[in-house]
Amino acid sequence: MREMTSPTDAAARATPAAAQQPDWPDPARVDRVRRRLRALPPPVAPAAVDRLRGRLAEVAHGRALLLQGGDCAETFAGNTPAHIRANLRTLLHTATLLEVASGLPVVPVGRVAGQYAKPRSNPYDTDGLPSYRGDLVNATTPTAAARTPDPARLLRAHADARATLGVLDAVAAETRTELFAGHEALLLDYEIPLTRRAPDGARRGLSGHFLWIGERTRQPGGAHVEFARGIANPVGVKVGPGTTPAEVLAYADALDPHRSPGRLTLISRMGADRVADALPPLVTAVAAAGHPVIWLCDPMHGNTVVANSGHKTRHFDTILAEIRGFFAVHAALGTHPGGLHLEFTGDDVTECLGGSQDLRDTDLPTRYDTACDPRLNARQTLDLTCLIAKTLLTPTTPRKPLNIA
Ligand code: PEP
Ligand code: MN
Repeated sequence: MREMTSPTDAAARATPAAAQQPDWPDPARVDRVRRRLRALPPPVAPAAVDRLRGRLAEVAHGRALLLQGGDCAETFAGNTPAHIRANLRTLLHTATLLEVASGLPVVPVGRVAGQYAKPRSNPYDTDGLPSYRGDLVNATTPTAAARTPDPARLLRAHADARATLGVLDAVAAETRTELFAGHEALLLDYEIPLTRRAPDGARRGLSGHFLWIGERTRQPGGAHVEFARGIANPVGVKVGPGTTPAEVLAYADALDPHRSPGRLTLISRMGADRVADALPPLVTAVAAAGHPVIWLCDPMHGNTVVANSGHKTRHFDTILAEIRGFFAVHAALGTHPGGLHLEFTGDDVTECLGGSQDLRDTDLPTRYDTACDPRLNARQTLDLTCLIAKTLLTPTTPRKPLNIA
């Protein structure tokens, strides 16, 4: 009962403008599901959330790197041990290569065990049906019934997240690493009921260890920023090329008022041709204000194109170009390039172009399995990491940690 009147709940309810929420046909059913989620054991443990925050403090200080990666959209059907393990293997291989190249520890955070909700630019698809919003909301099948938002999916997501975390814990034990789970905190009817207040008084979001706000829901003062303000997790905000210095300062003030290293990650997703111009004013503004944010490079979401075949895709070279641009900006400003946020899978898909396999437009239909955005396959991820390792993260690269006030 106490949770129903918590500041987080009240803030989210009082904010009418929560962007990208489904139009539930039966709100009373959503309320019942929310009550059930509040009663269930949450997916992750508060202590693990705090451990991640501690490890991210090292990233903020310039003494470690952060690697986030996995599916654009996890699906319930795709939640098999083989798929989860393949993605985590790719995450760990990438982390190891970056560690060897940089001489710095790498903190691995999967886009996993909760990456079930998708923001959409258009509420309707080309057939006039409600858009697919992720398995948390509706199904990809192009029928009106399948696209109707179904709150029972919140309970399925909770169960699948817990099962996925079981695999993640097994992989962590086998590899003697600590693995963390993160996702976009988009659907507030899922995220808010999975927050818990600990005896220390702090509320944490326990749907995942790391929660981020997407480019489409990052309105300063909006419901998602208010949600993130109310939880003690490490949180991220995606920032695209339209982001202003005033906005990033607003995120820093709202989400990290105590200037606590590890609390806030800004995930730059500018596009390869914009990063050199769009990123420096933002990095300069937060550095000048003394905020110890982590800067992460998402080289995927600013570089999506539509192939002749109609498939959404991204070219390996463009992805690499944005990463190089990101590192160049930080080298010029003397700030720490905190790491990468990627969409990849360990499966042998054909969704992105290029790489050593030289995938072409005509290859895309072969194994285009993503439920949303195109992912690098295992080989392309390895190719990319080797190139980054070779050119950008040699142990001799001078590193000037951000001077935290
Ligand atoms: C995503 O990470 O899948 C996504 C939708 O990203 P963005 O919010 O940066 O567009
Ligand atoms: Mn995506």
